[in-house]
Amino acid sequence: MQRYGIDIWSKGYFDISQDGKVVVNFGSKPAIVDIVNKVREMDISGPLLLRFPHLIEHQISLIYDTFNKVQNEFSYKGSFNAVFPLKVNQYPGFVQNIVKIGKKYNYGLEAGSKAELILAMSHNNIGSPITVNGFKDNEMIVLGFLAAKMGHNITLTIEGINELENIVNNIKNFEGVVPNIGLRIRLHSSGIGIWAKSGGINSKFGLTSLELITAVDMLKKHNLLEHFKMIHFHIGSQIEDIAPLKKALREAGNIFAELKKMGAVNLTSINLGGGLAVEYSQNSESYHRNYSLEEYANDVIYLLQDIARRKNVEEPDIFIESGRFVAASHAVLVAPVLELFSKEYSEKALRLKKDNPPLVSELYDLYRDMNKKNALEFLHDGIDHMESLLTLFDLGYIDIEDRSNTEILVNLIIKKALKLLKGKNHKELITIQDRVQERYLLNFSLFQSLPDYWGLGQSFPVMPLDKLNEKDKRSASLWDITCDSDGEISFDINNPLFLHDVNLEEEDYFLAFFLVGAYQETMGIEHNLFAHPTEITVIFNDNGYELKDIKESKNILEILSEIGYDRDDIVDNLYNKINNSSLIKEKEKALKLMDIFLKDNSYLKTDIIQHDFFDKENR
Ligand SMILES: *Cc1c(COP(=O)(O)O)cnc(C)c1O
Repeated sequence: MQRYGIDIWSKGYFDISQDGKVVVNFGSKPAIVDIVNKVREMDISGPLLLRFPHLIEHQISLIYDTFNKVQNEFSYKGSFNAVFPLKVNQYPGFVQNIVKIGKKYNYGLEAGSKAELILAMSHNNIGSPITVNGFKDNEMIVLGFLAAKMGHNITLTIEGINELENIVNNIKNFEGVVPNIGLRIRLHSSGIGIWAKSGGINSKFGLTSLELITAVDMLKKHNLLEHFKMIHFHIGSQIEDIAPLKKALREAGNIFAELKKMGAVNLTSINLGGGLAVEYSQNSESYHRNYSLEEYANDVIYLLQDIARRKNVEEPDIFIESGRFVAASHAVLVAPVLELFSKEYSEKALRLKKDNPPLVSELYDLYRDMNKKNALEFLHDGIDHMESLLTLFDLGYIDIEDRSNTEILVNLIIKKALKLLKGKNHKELITIQDRVQERYLLNFSLFQSLPDYWGLGQSFPVMPLDKLNEKDKRSASLWDITCDSDGEISFDINNPLFLHDVNLEEEDYFLAFFLVGAYQETMGIEHNLFAHPTEITVIFNDNGYELKDIKESKNILEILSEIGYDRDDIVDNLYNKINNSSLIKEKEKALKLMDIFLKDNSYLKTDIIQHDFFDKENR
């Protein structure tokens, strides 16, 4: 049974059943494909985003439990706190769950913009921390004061001296209630990976040493030093190598101690930002991260304790803002396969003539006579013949039927060779799979649902939801339904994907992308006007599970009006054109049909809507 690396990336959250289906490894262990079929019975088609809140809970408790354990081992005196950075996923189907689940941990929210701050102020549990990062105008600072007045435990992290000036100017308006003040420090240690711009001396964010000194002087001068509670840094997302983090911790620990020596009496906290990496790899030869959560926690606690002891200051309270690590696993994107493109490459499709060009006949013989012993040699000959035949076509010596026979025969030869040579781990064989890829057309938009694949080349684990105990598989490339050639996940010989040969007229075949709960949703764009997919929350209970909070993908009229079109305009235009067309006799039927389309989402349908508009007499 091929496991698609599930043991590497799924952390035991998903598994494969005896009968070859991917199951949620929890409660009644339902097969995901059964959940999907249940949803489709409700007349919902297109891609589905399944949310599993129990996985949010697992990740949150994992973080708290791990840090608490390490704190105990080291007798660490500072506290451990965490907030969820809203930019990672602001969707209500996620945020409402995280706030509910986070309550008992005192888990808070991080906001990076006014809209996120307002979302945090409305949803965060009173008493759980709110941290605010990013560039702030005066309005955002006023919001921070308001949040403090509402009873929120809020810390405004200052990114520049002007923000501090705004705080000073607002004090008089808020009768003594002041949000906690944090300072974002600029580290020498550079950021990491493709997100490197968040850390390092040239980073977009943070105060230099001189600015830190100026800030502390300013706080002293305005009697605000008591509100200065936290320093903050964030070296980037998906920290795959632990080494830069350790460097950053040493630097931050020393800055903490120095600022305390400068008189920052209430400075108690270091906020490490986010960056805890997720293992996305499906391949045991290429892990994406080189550390575990335990190692991360050990390093944080050990290093901060060590510096505090040596500099003789209190051990700092720790805040982390890990988002990806908390959110990624909770969401699974299911995309139905609509079509296999090269199903026509079968022996039946050959249109051999009575007299074929000699090379075509030879190709046929190679195909027919290939056996285990000669497979590799015949394969080489076949590819060689193909090159010659294609040149002959370009020069006008053979016709398009010959060319088609060539393509089909070479495809058949490669497939036969691969079958005969199975188990032989020739690098060449994998390279050759590249040439006989099956292209799977998936009912989803890469731009909408996996923007980080498109924008950053970030890979996500992908696998079929069933048939996992069936062998015969094809090297696969995946195509989405946008008409953009970037909407493709091509076959990668270093990380090859093999999928089943299915007859979609007889059965459904679904692929699932895992770990899509972080960043993908709001970063997704409506390229070709494909909207956020239908989402469903799967809640486990004593009787199995129930499907909740079903939010169907926006319909076409909604999508158009969202980008600024007037709905009535669109409807009126269409209706007028139908009414004025002399080619349409049955207006009522045409209007009704138009209505159905407007109220549908824009993803493709496999079933045919029942209507009688295009009856013979109306053509
Ligand atoms: C983006 C961001 C985070 C979250 O990073 P993850 O890699 O998702 O953990 C945390 N803090 C700040 C300041 C950020 O900008």
